[in-house]
Amino acid sequence: MFGPELYDLFVRVKQSFDPSGVFNPGIKISDRPFTDHIDYVRLSKPCATCAKCNAVCPVYDVFQSEDMSSRGWFEIVTDKNYSYLNSKRVVEACLNCKSCRTACPAGVDVSQLILDRRAEHPNEMAGVIFRFHAQTALFETILKVSREVSADLGSASDAASARSSDEAVYASSQPRRQDCRLSL
Ligand code: SF4
Ligand code: SF4
Repeated sequence: MFGPELYDLFVRVKQSFDPSGVFNPGIKISDRPFTDHIDYVRLSKPCATCAKCNAVCPVYDVFQSEDMSSRGWFEIVTDKNYSYLNSKRVVEACLNCKSCRTACPAGVDVSQLILDRRAEHPNEMAGVIFRFHAQTALFETILKVSREVSADLGSASDAASARSSDEAVYASSQPRRQDCRLSL
């Protein structure tokens, strides 16, 4: 970037002030080309790790932990060694609120990446429930019947408790046998 002549000057200045190489060893002045330090895996990903998504992620707000945050999940679900079994807890924790999507300057949609990972392991029971729910007419009929049954059960229970309460009041109002004897 600065050219060999200027860089050589940097090296001589550094050697004069820091002959033992104590300060930032291998960072500013190095024998290795700077391309050796480039994280190509990170460069290949769209995320700039700015953490703007973490600031709006409700899960991060609660857990305050990188592995329970939008940015952390991006790393997890895009890792080359990603495994659903090892990451199930975090992959299932996203609320899919899409707050991170609107905050991300790089246009990364973390929740969509998570949904794609979830889709690789569909929840069979949830599938049955949603298929059932999709049959609107049948679902609404069952809801209506269950509402009516629960209302009937509620009124029967109210009547029974009112009856037992009347009986208790009646019983307490009767003089005990011993009390009757005393009054004779
Ligand atoms: S969609 Fe998921 S990752 Fe994004 S902010 Fe909401 S909970 Fe966090
Ligand atoms: S806001 Fe976007 S670029 Fe920044 S850390 Fe989150 S996903 Fe990465």
